[in-house]
Amino acid sequence: MDLSSDQQKLLHLVAIYTRTKSGKQRWMKELPLHVAIFHAIRRGAFNTYDFAPSLITSHGVRLYANMSQEALHDMKVLREKELIEKLKLSTHLYEDIGAYRITRAGIELAKTIGPKRRKEVNDALACSACSRPVMFRIVKDVEEGNVKIRAFRGCSHCNKDRGDNIGSADGDPSEFFTIHPVDFKTLPYLPEATR
Ligand SMILES: [Zn+2]
Repeated sequence: MDLSSDQQKLLHLVAIYTRTKSGKQRWMKELPLHVAIFHAIRRGAFNTYDFAPSLITSHGVRLYANMSQEALHDMKVLREKELIEKLKLSTHLYEDIGAYRITRAGIELAKTIGPKRRKEVNDALACSACSRPVMFRIVKDVEEGNVKIRAFRGCSHCNKDRGDNIGSADGDPSEFFTIHPVDFKTLPYLPEATR
């Protein structure tokens, strides 16, 4: 297999979230997937990945998020090899958001990834109570006119492992958005062409 160790781990991570028990595929939105990657990086699952604040758009708000450029690059490699695929969706805010899923070929290849590499990713994403993979979601709140975008972790299996935006405990997904929004009272972001 001509994939690097981290590319194999990334494929396994995408498989965890987009391959169903019955072997089918489902889409996962790009941003929660990047929160999962961020979480796995902080828990030491990847050898070469790091993250840095990047300007992104979420729920019509421009803000900084701790994205991994290495992971973004490897997502592209996995797409070129047709192991994962991307779907582009447009929201009512004229924001393009992507969703990813593993392909049939990706599912077959993921089966050949060594148990040690799979375990490192599984352990990083494991619920502290039931050990199954935790889920991530992005929520938009408006507080006193200020828009807040937050990342949350939760176990949909046992409902116990919860990480929210308050503390800075190990693996808390909230730190995905450590940097303040570009403008707290920003209006929905419109692409250049529509201004
Ligand atoms: Zn659990």
